Amino acid sequence: MKSEVFFRSINEGKRTECLKKSLREIDPLLSQFRKGSFVGIKMTVGDEKSTGYIKPELVRILVNNLKRRGIKPFVFDTNVIYKGRRQNAVDHLNLAYRKGFTPGNIGCPYIIADSVFGTDSRTIKVDFKNIREIRVPSLVKVLDDLIVLSHITGHIMSGYAGSIKNVAMGMASRAGKQVQHSSLKPAINAANCTLCGCCIETCPVSAISEHSRKAFINSEVCIGCGECIACCKFNAVKINWQEDTSIFAERTVEYAYGILSQIKRKVFINVAFDITEECDCISGDDPVIMEDKGIFASGDILAVDKACYDLLSETKDKFARGGKIGTHLHQFKYAGEIGLGSLDYELVGALRAG
Ligand code: SF4
Ligand code: SF4
Repeated sequence: MKSEVFFRSINEGKRTECLKKSLREIDPLLSQFRKGSFVGIKMTVGDEKSTGYIKPELVRILVNNLKRRGIKPFVFDTNVIYKGRRQNAVDHLNLAYRKGFTPGNIGCPYIIADSVFGTDSRTIKVDFKNIREIRVPSLVKVLDDLIVLSHITGHIMSGYAGSIKNVAMGMASRAGKQVQHSSLKPAINAANCTLCGCCIETCPVSAISEHSRKAFINSEVCIGCGECIACCKFNAVKINWQEDTSIFAERTVEYAYGILSQIKRKVFINVAFDITEECDCISGDDPVIMEDKGIFASGDILAVDKACYDLLSETKDKFARGGKIGTHLHQFKYAGEIGLGSLDYELVGALRAG
């Protein structure tokens, strides 16, 4: 059976109106949340310098909609493994407040789910090809109601990032994030390296040092976070796109499956505004790569990601990195194979209306 994906086109209308109309259309999905229930809204404010993230005024509209239903919403995220303002809950919350995600602005609390230093990490047994256990904040084990609110972007490793990435990475503890990245072992292309030092400074586990006036990665120490790839401006950090990223994609799918199997009621909302080349975790000059499309929503995480990707890549795969198409397609295919959701979907809603 086809999964329904609601789509509301922005069509030069206002973003706030687009979301309000979208929420009216997905009333059947939101109605599954009961009065008095705690609904966690998983989203991210992104890195300090990222600009494409979903803005507080949109979050407020969703929160108000839930509150009118007698629901108690809260917004949450987890700490990250790389350097920056989201490595611990104190800096992370201060960043969120600076970006406007105060309770006053969004209408509910903003919570860092895996504790001050990201140490709240429970193990859940799973049985997949690559992963036998997942590591998640204890919230995942007790949360019954979830809305995954995702900003659609490109991604340095998977090519495309939506709900699957938001759940797999964003709802794993720091230990779980490291496991998902662990197959990625970049190497330095010495011919391009200028020894600018950015990667050496950025690497969270000091796996990069100077050797013969070039950067060198110790793969025994590397945890595969991808930060060096993101920071190198000289195209001197290479990854094996054929192998490493496929395993990375499979691990994210397995994590998403393991996490979502713990939670009873789920809604996935993909916001295709300010679609940037990199995900919101990456700082700095991050160009918008296509025009705003609108808002997608479904109870099926795979259907919503696939529908969104298909519509954004109608004429050409705009998420191919370095000419490589495939990691996100492999992610979709594998997700379909293990039953994360359906690749077969039907778009419903006011497709062309603004
Ligand atoms: S960031 Fe790139 S150019 Fe700079 S030291 Fe690292 S590999 Fe070399
Ligand atoms: S070498 Fe690169 S991928 Fe490995 S841990 Fe350091 S920054 Fe992350």
